[in-house]
Amino acid sequence: MTRYVYDFIEGDRSKVDLLGGKGANLAEMTRLGLPVPPGFTVSTDACRAYLADGRPPVGLFDEVNAHLREIEVRLGRPLGDPHDPLLLAVRSGGRYSMPGMMETILDIGLNDATVAGLAARTGDERFAWDSYRRLIQMFGRTVHGVPAEYFERELAVVRTAAGPAGPDAVALRALVDTYKKVYAARVGHDFPQAPHEQLYLAIRAVFESWNAERAVLYRRREHIPDDLGTAVNVMAMVFGNLGADSGTGVAFTRDPATGEPGVYGDYLADAQGEDVVAGIRNTVPLAELERIDPASFGELVRIMSVLERHYRDLCDVEFTIERGRLWMLQTRVGKRTPAAAFTIAAQLVDEGLITIDEALHRVDGAQLTQLMFPAFDRSVAPPPLTTGVGASPGAAVGAVVFDSAAAVAADVPVILVRQETNPDDLPGMIAATGVLTARGGKTSHAAVVARGMGRTCVCGAEALRIDAGRGEFSVGDRVFRAGDVISIDGTTGAVYPGAVPVAPSPVARYLAGELTPESDRLVAAVDRLLQHADAVRRVGVRANADTPADAARARAHGAAGIGLCRTEHMFLGERRELVERLILADGPAERSDTLTALLPVQRADFVEILAAMDGLPVTVRLLDPPLHEFLPPLSDLAALVARAEALDQDPGRDATLLAAVRRMHEANPMLGLRGVRLGLVLPGLFAMQVRALAEAAAQRARDGGDPRPEIMVPLVDDVRELATVRAEIDEVLATVPDAPPIPVGTMVETPRAALTAGDLAREAHFFSFGTNDLTQTTWAFSRDDVEASFVGTYLERGILTVSPFETVDAAGVGRLVRLAVAEGRAARPDLTIGVCGEHGGDPESIAFFAEVGLDYVSCSPYRLPIARLAAGRAAARPTGDTADSR
Ligand code: ADP
Ligand code: MG
Ligand code: MG
Repeated sequence: MTRYVYDFIEGDRSKVDLLGGKGANLAEMTRLGLPVPPGFTVSTDACRAYLADGRPPVGLFDEVNAHLREIEVRLGRPLGDPHDPLLLAVRSGGRYSMPGMMETILDIGLNDATVAGLAARTGDERFAWDSYRRLIQMFGRTVHGVPAEYFERELAVVRTAAGPAGPDAVALRALVDTYKKVYAARVGHDFPQAPHEQLYLAIRAVFESWNAERAVLYRRREHIPDDLGTAVNVMAMVFGNLGADSGTGVAFTRDPATGEPGVYGDYLADAQGEDVVAGIRNTVPLAELERIDPASFGELVRIMSVLERHYRDLCDVEFTIERGRLWMLQTRVGKRTPAAAFTIAAQLVDEGLITIDEALHRVDGAQLTQLMFPAFDRSVAPPPLTTGVGASPGAAVGAVVFDSAAAVAADVPVILVRQETNPDDLPGMIAATGVLTARGGKTSHAAVVARGMGRTCVCGAEALRIDAGRGEFSVGDRVFRAGDVISIDGTTGAVYPGAVPVAPSPVARYLAGELTPESDRLVAAVDRLLQHADAVRRVGVRANADTPADAARARAHGAAGIGLCRTEHMFLGERRELVERLILADGPAERSDTLTALLPVQRADFVEILAAMDGLPVTVRLLDPPLHEFLPPLSDLAALVARAEALDQDPGRDATLLAAVRRMHEANPMLGLRGVRLGLVLPGLFAMQVRALAEAAAQRARDGGDPRPEIMVPLVDDVRELATVRAEIDEVLATVPDAPPIPVGTMVETPRAALTAGDLAREAHFFSFGTNDLTQTTWAFSRDDVEASFVGTYLERGILTVSPFETVDAAGVGRLVRLAVAEGRAARPDLTIGVCGEHGGDPESIAFFAEVGLDYVSCSPYRLPIARLAAGRAAARPTGDTADSR
């Protein structure tokens, strides 16, 4: 028979799946001999069985009773005893912490008889009646969904009547009678007097709180699976509300904001935990406890040091002091800011608590990303107007505008303020420095699109009352009009009036070579972990860089070469005219003239890039986009021609161009004439590019450089495409003296290429996965359209947990990658394989690419540090266990 209940002494922190985070850590503290009130945990198995069948599994409550009896014996205090009753706390707690999402019921076991026993034992009648009324209220709300207001209303009346001294025992006793009437009226029967019945109902209510709407939403947002269920912790109550020598608090073993060592937290005398949340009185800094109760403070500090050494990480704790005696009610590995994560990881290495390998697993790329953004100088910031959801990091200051057109027209930095955004707002989002919405969460349209383009965004700032028609918004009684300056913090979600000064990120300055590691504790920690990541990683990190300036920046940020050098910009600017001539060319002679004119300028470009990356590989992609992208838009040309005709003028060249654009028009250009297809139908184009590159390399070699170019053919579907183009490439290469050997490889960016990788490998020296196109073609998702139109909805409805353009879809696209790697290497064992495209800079994707054995990832220069860190994490071995740090 399945067992469902475990005494705290039986569990430990490794059993988080079974006991939930809270239960496993209560068990761990019990094992460590720390003062935890006795108790037991009803497992997540029981919750899943309950949710599946709609009733408790057979035998559950017998097991609960058996464990309960042990506690009764240990404490010499039975549940329901009218002279000295045991009271219980019934607390939820799943695998991952979901703060405030689920239920806890305190003071189970109180009834008309035991309330007198509690009063007698504690000598505090007022406290006993107050506890009873708390129970009726919490039980009513949690078990039967009676809104707290119905009780709070009555409490307020009694409080007002009592004045500053607070209600006495007589008044509270009367209040309990009122509460019972409220309960009976709202629920339809009397408050249950039998303590065991209270306990069973409370356990069921905690099970059911797993599926409460807010809990479901929270899980969706945090990517926590829905089928885990919660455990239920049942433990003896201790009382922080028994006078001035009692109290309750929370504490951290280090500062969770900066990582500085020390004792941080809040304390509230003469109170229970829920009073802190209710905010009836203000807490005091934990340091005050040293004055109020030095013995308990000393004990708490000792316990926190035990916990930190044991968990080898920052811990937070909840504790209660009952008449001078300290009790531990909860601990877990604590949440922290990105800065604290890096600082603490480095400190723990210095303190000998963790290895440097493990330290890499204590930080992640998302945290490093946040540290690279500039931030508001909070020491001089005014109090925020309001706080929404920090949806896309950064610190943006700008003038308020209410619509996309105004954002586009503005000549100063602007913040686009909308109720929510939709695809029509896209031009405004591009033009603005920041986006602020009143509605929507982290997966709303505004959030997804802003993150995609690196625009600062705060969404769901529900306190905003927007009146776009009148061109103003208000928060409370403060009104802001179009043109007023505000500041938004995309990391914290804060919205400030006026222009808050922005402090550049020390980490970004360090990465740009402007700060040395010694200058700042955080920077020193980042430097140390990045250095270690570089030392252990097996995956190389290259950059996507198209220009000499990008190449130089990439090199400074630690790139081991260029994994993707796009050539399209070499056809733009003044050269566009040559491209137009190429497209309009009347026959092979004119075409070859134009190509001859393009050759020297492109050769000069390549010389500079090869020089910037001297000694490192530079993978040059032959021209990829559809040719019409180099011509003026159809609508512009049509307008020009129409105007000329209306004025009876000769539209001349514009008419020829218009005809060409019409001829080349494609319904699905991304699936049309581009990539290798273009090279095959436009004779001489690829040959010109190859010659320019080979001659540039030859020149660099003659000048004493060490050029390492590689040629990459885009959008290949079939080995015959590659073989045909390669024959042409080899022919050109053979005619360029002094050029070093130049490997020729292919992109793998269509399902067919991946499925026939074994054939392609026979014609390719290397593969580079173009995961953007591979994702588009595998999913049949047009990236430019779907991200704005429905990915947000998919995320909100839980169909996608992340955009496949952000993190590689391991199950689908990833399967093609695995297959292509295996078949490619089988056909050519020394095949070099990399990935270029956005996924190359995404930490989760990098972990996947490392696992499938790619040689390198290539990403945009500013994501290089993140890629280095992620590749390091993939190679570093964490030692010991990892506690819940979500
Ligand atoms: P959450 O997961 O929302 O933090 P908890 O289960 O930790 O909920 O309970 C909330 C508060 O209830 C705790 O912070 C603590 O102050 C109080 N509490 C929990 N267990 C006990 C107990 N055994 N005795 C007294 N108070 C308790
Ligand atoms: Mg808690
Ligand atoms: Mg592509």
